[in-house]
Amino acid sequence: MTPSERAAAVFERLDPVYPDKRPLLEYSSPFELLIAVILSAQTTDAQVNRVTPELFRRFPTPQALAAAEPAEVETLIFSTGFYRAKARNIRAAARALTEQYAGELPCTMAELTGMPGVGRKTANVLLGVLCDRPSIVVDTHFGRVVRRIGFTTARQPDRVERELAAIVPAEIRTELSMALNFHGRYVCTARNPACFRCPIADLCLFEEKTSAPQTEDIP
Ligand code: SF4
Repeated sequence: MTPSERAAAVFERLDPVYPDKRPLLEYSSPFELLIAVILSAQTTDAQVNRVTPELFRRFPTPQALAAAEPAEVETLIFSTGFYRAKARNIRAAARALTEQYAGELPCTMAELTGMPGVGRKTANVLLGVLCDRPSIVVDTHFGRVVRRIGFTTARQPDRVERELAAIVPAEIRTELSMALNFHGRYVCTARNPACFRCPIADLCLFEEKTSAPQTEDIP
């Protein structure tokens, strides 16, 4: 089996296991998803979801957030960590959205990564979810799973993205990326991968596969 064939087979198995491949971040507009993804750096989606309702209630538009008092934004997002840098970035991104793009999120990697606080990971989330572009979101879960399966040995996110893009057909790229992300959260977890109940175990090259339930998995 070539890596491309293996990627297609992995998708075929995981697609029905994770039918809802929408992000776990809550949002009701492109602006809100942009801000939520920036806030999700170095924290959990659940933590971001705890702060964004009040943030977006106070600042419902890019214009309002761009003009916000830094201290108020910092207080609202404090619990997501790195709150000073994140407050600066989300205000600056809101300003760029307002001033450069008339409030409409752009749909190219170059434009998105030109916005403050937006790296390739954030841009790929936005491209995949909002722009319907093939995208690979390399976060901690995705990176771990694709290394274990044997699709790459790279650790650097840009390289992981490049190597996966080379073997995953464009038409399944976004969905496979999300499915592998969920697989990393729920089955192929960092400390204790549940290989014994993994639907892609026979397609995975991980040498330390677990074959029986681990103590902490037994209720
Ligand atoms: S077999 Fe184990 S290591 Fe491989 S993807 Fe499944 S849970 Fe992860």
